Parts: sequence; C-alpha cells; structure tokens
Amino acid sequence: MICVCNKCGAEIQMNIQETVLEDEKENMVTEQYFVCLRCGARYTICIYDNYMRKRIAMRKRLSKSRYNRKRDRQLKEEMEIHFKELKIKYGRE
Ligand SMILES: [Zn+2]
Repeated sequence: MICVCNKCGAEIQMNIQETVLEDEKENMVTEQYFVCLRCGARYTICIYDNYMRKRIAMRKRLSKSRYNRKRDRQLKEEMEIHFKELKIKYGRE
C-alpha cells in the first residue's frame, strides 16, 4: 500500500510496524505506525488498549441485523473518540 507523506510529499511504501507504549499486565498498550523514509515523519495508524480491543472483539461478534448495524456504528464512533484521546495522551498527532 502506498500513500503520500503530508510533510515532504514523498511516496511512502507503508511498512506497518508495531511498538509497545505501555507494558502493563492489566492493560497493554500498543501502537501501529509507519514512517516516511525520506523525512522521518511518523504516522500513527491505531493505538490498541483494553478499551479498543474489547470493542474490536465486540464488533467481530456482531452479525448484520439492523439492530447490530446501529450498535456497530456506535462502537466505531466510540473507538474514534477514544483513539483521539489516546493520541493526545501519548503525544501522537
Ligand atoms: Zn516525508
């Protein structure tokens, strides 16, 4: 997958890497990201903690009934909000 770096305009071959932000038994936090090889800009794709993992699992379990679609959308919105909070917490943009 290729995208363009917002900072230097170079094409980036997305090689997704993963790093551990917090290594706690109760709530391990990991980040998926990729880096522009030309300018070193770092792009966070997602941050996973218990909150996120729980919702990913819940979304996997939902079947496609009308009620579940609504629930699925709600979970997705919750994840988007939480992801923003995590980015602020860990100083990611
Ligand atoms: Zn760049």
